[in-house]
Amino acid sequence: MRIPVTAPLTAGAMSCLLFGGLVAGAVNGASPADRVREATSAVDTAMIIANEETTEHWLSYNLGYTEQRYSRLRQITTDNVGELGLAWSYDIGSERGLEATPIVVDGVMYVSGPWSTVHAIDARTGERLWYFDPEVDPKYGAWACCDVVNRGVAVYRGKVFVGALHGYLIALDAATGEEVWRRDTNIDRERYRHTITGAPRVFNDTVVIGHGGAELTARGYVTAYDTETGVKRWRWYSVPRGPQGPFEDPSMEMAAATWDPDGVWHEVGGGGTIWDSMVYDPELDLLYVGVGNGTPWNRDVRSPAGGDNLFLSSIVALNASTGEYVWHYQQVPGETWDYTATQHIILADLEIGGEERKVLMQAPKNGFFFLIDRTDGSFISAEPFVEVNWAEGYDSEGRPIEVEGARAQDGGREVIPTAYGAHNWHPMSYNPETGLVYIPAQGVPLALESDPDYQPSTHQPGHAMSNLGWNLGHLLNTVPPEAKPFGHLLAWDPVNQREVWRQEYLSPWNGGTVTTAGNLVFQGTADGRFLAYDATTGEPLWQQEVGSGVIAGPVSYAIDGTQYVSVAVGWGGVYGLAQRHTDRASPGRVYTFTLGGDADPPPVRRVEEFRGTELVSGYAYAEDDVNPGAMLYVSNCLMCHGAPALNNGGNIPNLAYSDLSILEQLPTLVLEGAWTDRGMPHFEGRLTEGELRQIAAYVQYMADTMRE
Ligand code: CA
Repeated sequence: MRIPVTAPLTAGAMSCLLFGGLVAGAVNGASPADRVREATSAVDTAMIIANEETTEHWLSYNLGYTEQRYSRLRQITTDNVGELGLAWSYDIGSERGLEATPIVVDGVMYVSGPWSTVHAIDARTGERLWYFDPEVDPKYGAWACCDVVNRGVAVYRGKVFVGALHGYLIALDAATGEEVWRRDTNIDRERYRHTITGAPRVFNDTVVIGHGGAELTARGYVTAYDTETGVKRWRWYSVPRGPQGPFEDPSMEMAAATWDPDGVWHEVGGGGTIWDSMVYDPELDLLYVGVGNGTPWNRDVRSPAGGDNLFLSSIVALNASTGEYVWHYQQVPGETWDYTATQHIILADLEIGGEERKVLMQAPKNGFFFLIDRTDGSFISAEPFVEVNWAEGYDSEGRPIEVEGARAQDGGREVIPTAYGAHNWHPMSYNPETGLVYIPAQGVPLALESDPDYQPSTHQPGHAMSNLGWNLGHLLNTVPPEAKPFGHLLAWDPVNQREVWRQEYLSPWNGGTVTTAGNLVFQGTADGRFLAYDATTGEPLWQQEVGSGVIAGPVSYAIDGTQYVSVAVGWGGVYGLAQRHTDRASPGRVYTFTLGGDADPPPVRRVEEFRGTELVSGYAYAEDDVNPGAMLYVSNCLMCHGAPALNNGGNIPNLAYSDLSILEQLPTLVLEGAWTDRGMPHFEGRLTEGELRQIAAYVQYMADTMRE
């Protein structure tokens, strides 16, 4: 007997049944493309709402408008999850990070890959239907702080929408992959290094998209376009253009009063990018957006007189039809630590203190779990879900009680959490049956120290990773962090704000989660496993080795009465650029599992098959070059290549494991732009031959030190 794939049908499920009938009726005489067109044409706001009752399809980045990532499918349960096996795998054809959550509509999967490529896959077989490459110029790889990743597409009325790395929003024909329209979302390419890595959201014939770039030069905003024509409907900026405006709307005038007019912020954009969470609330017709950190990071150089610097590190509610500001809640007034409020936002109705509240939940980088009333933005509660040392807690008004000295104004300081976040973009999930939120929690130690030499004038376009206003370089020598890195899956009770269970991992930077009505939680790990847990107890029930580290969030969906679980496997992202926690380093793939699946596993590639494993030796250098080389290395190389010799690199090689010939030719290779086709920045005019020899000296020194 077949186990029913879904819960008993509810009224809300009816539109999905009708939808299924439409597709079946179209089979006779219709081409596969016609059938896909007909199925995807039915995807609209009403269907996305109805689908959350059955979750047969996976229609939005975080499944539906509540963004809970709670699958109601119950064919796979705690009792039978041990029988899960591989149904198929699909090769994405890239070695860079895979952060995408696939969208699945009526058996067709749409998944984005590195460099904003889009793959349409038959989810029954894993065969490719079509492939789209927006042909992003590799130079934009240097505009992206955190790998050339893409977190996913949106599907609406027969179109697939992808935000491409170089700042274009592109609409594709869902049946063929042909481009229908593209719009440049960057308002000023000379001035701002805006990139898109996040998934668009769709509602009421509207597609919205933000962008990243606050580590370089950026002024944040979110833009809404007509899904059919690509015509711009509205745009809301998250920070003012300058102290005197001009102000695009009253919220900008309000915000300007919270910035030091004499600060450097408006020269470099001020930051506040909306690079991940955007949640549409159909009940209230609001769009909640999560706003990121300031540019530069350090408030003491950004806005020296202080100020809250709205709307940095805030959740802002906008009128979804007009883009007008409605309310905001600022998590970190005067943000200075890269504590973005961009992390995953989940909507739910929870009983709190005997009262039913419409809440939104977020576990952002700053280490506190937030409950906010989403009708008016009022603060309900915030409690730390990891160890923190920057704030003692939040007062009843929702303002943090900062620990003295946490702003590192008196020298170097190890602040916890760090810019990597106690939880980053990796999606969490909420299970209404267990009442728990499943968070990929982590810690990556770092320390901060003011950069006395910070000059916005040196932060010309193309100067990657320079707009921090913190001197990470000095810190390597003066304040080595004492905390240890960690990563765990955390089950959190949001109503009582307390931990219920956790599962420890080898390292930080593990994958997103999905939870199901089969009382399961699925998650992939940095060390290359994909696991299922009992959602109530946290007991591990099943695991499978996959070809590389996992960072993306899994999905579950049903086709013809069979439940599937899929996950994109491909190590990378800002942490994975420079380190790796498994010797498996296969190119990116989508893995799909089902009960009794018995497909052959795809070939696995080991690190030693394509990268040197010996520390470099023999590069002749002058000892005097080591210290200046270290400073140059930290400013120019560290973010992608990592600390030399401490490990054998992530997606980007660690230079201490290079061949000697690479170190010897480093000045020529780097200044010629030898690796620009892979997205490495061009350093001509930024580093001299002599400076590159100093960098090589530091790399050799580190290799020698490590070998001893
Ligand atoms: Ca940031």
